[in-house]
Amino acid sequence: MYAQILHECKTITEKPLVLTDIERPVAAAKAVLIKVHACGICRTDLHVVEGELDVARYKFPLVPGHQVVGTIESAPVGSELKIGQRVGVPWLNATCGGCRFCQSGRENLCDSPEFTGWTRNGGFAEYLTAPADFVYELPASLSDTEVAPLLCAGIIGYRCLRQCELDNWAGAKLGIYGFGAAGHIAIQIARYRGADVYVCTRDRKRHQELAEQLGAKWVGDTFENPPVKLDASIVFAPAGEIVPVALKALDRDGRLVLGGIHMSAIPEFPYRDIYWERVIRSVANNTRQDGREFITEAARANIQTHTETFPLADANEALTALKHDAIKGAGVLVMDS
Ligand SMILES: [Zn+2]
Ligand SMILES: [Zn+2]
Repeated sequence: MYAQILHECKTITEKPLVLTDIERPVAAAKAVLIKVHACGICRTDLHVVEGELDVARYKFPLVPGHQVVGTIESAPVGSELKIGQRVGVPWLNATCGGCRFCQSGRENLCDSPEFTGWTRNGGFAEYLTAPADFVYELPASLSDTEVAPLLCAGIIGYRCLRQCELDNWAGAKLGIYGFGAAGHIAIQIARYRGADVYVCTRDRKRHQELAEQLGAKWVGDTFENPPVKLDASIVFAPAGEIVPVALKALDRDGRLVLGGIHMSAIPEFPYRDIYWERVIRSVANNTRQDGREFITEAARANIQTHTETFPLADANEALTALKHDAIKGAGVLVMDS
């Protein structure tokens, strides 16, 4: 089978991914073998490829990709999953089940987790294997390419919305900083719940247009001040310099949620900007419950994803476009057949 292989981390312009013909993987006990139809690309893939994540956890050669849509080729005996069934494989590949976090409904914080497309091979390939307990059933209403971005961009955005801890979404004022794959899905859930959404994004043309189309109350540049104080904001852009700016735009008791796995350093800011019980918190991974709840709400809210597709062979080019904010909505790699 063909797969995009990473042998060592390099900047994406050096084309670190190499399309290679390798052995098809064999599913271990309790795992499924999946024939991949499409795999979304995510900023985390870029962080994986460029070496921004914990060095010790890489296992080369590595196949990235963690928003995988495909059909089951083989399933463990006794599994509810059926051959031919369409499923999704997300970033959270496996958890230990025994640590204090797994035991208390916080498996996203597991002490010894595995991640698709980083510590285990992912979906930039024609086939992959995944633990049967960690794959999602998918709604039939969305096509392979439309549903792929829900599997990380969507789920992470959903967890970010949860961490905003808004008791009442109707009329709430929500800020979104960075308007790529995650932002364009999160705004639809927030609008569905009745919130007013203020979008700050650096690509005024491409991203601003989409934000307006998806019902943003106001759209401005990254460092522009929204016209009202915000109840909560989510930062999807990996730029630490946004944090003090976004903090200043928050109302008293506001929540600032950081959605990325990696961010550049956060500059110093005066204490008064976080005073009045404002909170900054990061979001790490997701639980399977987040994933299932999100997929249900996404189907109910009739979420529409905007995608740009690339052939598997163009994975380097797709990630380069992502790096330069040149994708409107979400990028998705599609397999030949
Ligand atoms: Zn655990
Ligand atoms: Zn991701």
